[in-house]
Amino acid sequence: MSNSKQSTSKSLPGFDTNPSNIMPAKLSQSSKIKFRCHPKVSCFTACCGNINIILTPYDILRIRKALNMDADEFLLRFTTPTFLEKTDMPGVKLHLDSEGRCPFVTDKGCTIYESRPTTCRYYPVGMSFFHESSDEGSTQEEFYFLVKEPHCKGHEEDQEMTIREWRKDQGIDESDEMNREWMELVMRRKSFGPQATLSEPAQKMFFMVSTNLDKFKNFIFNSTFLDIYEIDNATLDEIKNDDIALMKFSNKYLASSLFGTQDLKIKEEKIMAKAAKLKVSQAEAEEKAKETYQELLRDRDKLKKQIEKEKNSKK
Ligand code: SF4
Ligand code: SF4
Repeated sequence: MSNSKQSTSKSLPGFDTNPSNIMPAKLSQSSKIKFRCHPKVSCFTACCGNINIILTPYDILRIRKALNMDADEFLLRFTTPTFLEKTDMPGVKLHLDSEGRCPFVTDKGCTIYESRPTTCRYYPVGMSFFHESSDEGSTQEEFYFLVKEPHCKGHEEDQEMTIREWRKDQGIDESDEMNREWMELVMRRKSFGPQATLSEPAQKMFFMVSTNLDKFKNFIFNSTFLDIYEIDNATLDEIKNDDIALMKFSNKYLASSLFGTQDLKIKEEKIMAKAAKLKVSQAEAEEKAKETYQELLRDRDKLKKQIEKEKNSKK
């Protein structure tokens, strides 16, 4: 097994990669790359250490299902909390061993190959994904690029394929489809820039929903969640029994709670109760303002009288 100490550039599509290893060409799905990775390359598994592999909710779900593990145990054994790059959104990355190696790598390769994370599927292809929101709507742009690191010998192999074929070969289409809504949330947040910060409760909620679907399910069925949101029985049935449906629902919940979208409907009576509460606090605030005004008037009159008294005493 190679023990490269170089830091490799596996990263989530749309996230920063070491620029010095990026080939300066914008690629499309039809662009061809010359690359092949297989167990006989001299660098086999060199890219599975000293890496920063952020896990999407779908990555976590897929890997822990393959390992037959619940979310708590998987998170504890195989992940480390981190912030999703250049955002204040907390997430998790793969926890490396004491030698900086991925916990799933062996001499024979990746032990979770069929369920490997999205970033491992992309490598050595990167994708740039821009999302910009403005009053006129939102714009998106994506393109691909090739990451060429000195230790990666796959670029010296003869095989040629288009990015489209690479995506199909690596199962990226399916991963992207499953990650899409969550990635859009992260990109949307990222587009607000560092001046907009998430409150601590919002960060905690984002972390719980994005990393631990078991806890999110418990939160739905064992808290006041269902008193607040209007969820039909068919959806409830689905999210109770199907983790993919639960994950998709979690993205809708995040979108509506973080960005105020209409993905989830709040119960009418809750809106009325909130409006009534606001009305009461508004009325209280008005009352308080009136009292303060009257106090100011009284103070002003007192002061006036005092000044006049002083004037008269000097005459
Ligand atoms: S998950 Fe598999 S492919 Fe990805 S770094 Fe670990 S061993 Fe390598
Ligand atoms: S060829 Fe590249 S991707 Fe394949 S094992 Fe070597 S370093 Fe990793």
